[in-house]
Amino acid sequence: MSLEAEIKKTIRDIPDFPKPGIVFKDITPLFYDQKLCTDIVDGFIQKMKTRPDAILGIESRGFLFGFLTANKLGVPFVLVRKAGKLPYKTIKVDYDLEYGSATIEMHEDALKRGWNVIIHDDLLATGGTAEAAARLVEKAGAKVAGFDFIVGLEFLNGKSKLVNHTNNITCLVQY
Ligand code: AMP
Repeated sequence: MSLEAEIKKTIRDIPDFPKPGIVFKDITPLFYDQKLCTDIVDGFIQKMKTRPDAILGIESRGFLFGFLTANKLGVPFVLVRKAGKLPYKTIKVDYDLEYGSATIEMHEDALKRGWNVIIHDDLLATGGTAEAAARLVEKAGAKVAGFDFIVGLEFLNGKSKLVNHTNNITCLVQY
């Protein structure tokens, strides 16, 4: 079975979570199959055009495969968190949500100027979160080399928000 088919078979749909009308893609069943987890990491690495200088993971499900992939490549892993969680000095970016706004941040010394960074999260929906992470990378003087997601929800057209930063966008499965 292809990697795409294995992932689709394993991810669980939760209708009306966290609110009515949303079909939540629950990735937690993936973690029961460690061979599949290894194949997901290898899937991301095979699609990379060049080896990045760092992988940046978005809180919190972006930490899981983001960290595994960085570890396998032997490159630094950077945490992007919601405001107020990181202990050291940070740089921040605000972004709009459906209702209101949110702030993400990373440590101010997390990236070196000129580094090529891959931004990772579990799922691309509207693209607002990943686009904010891209602005954070650029604010630090680094470059967005790519975006990696396990799942892309094509019908929400999130890629259109990301192409200003790079065309190198990987979704291992699409819906
Ligand atoms: P967005 O900024 O709209 O692209 O939303 C992306 C973030 O929200 C990711 O961190 C996802 O984990 C989460 N997310 C949004 N929609 C879903 C969904 N249908 N299923 C699971 N996670 C979702």
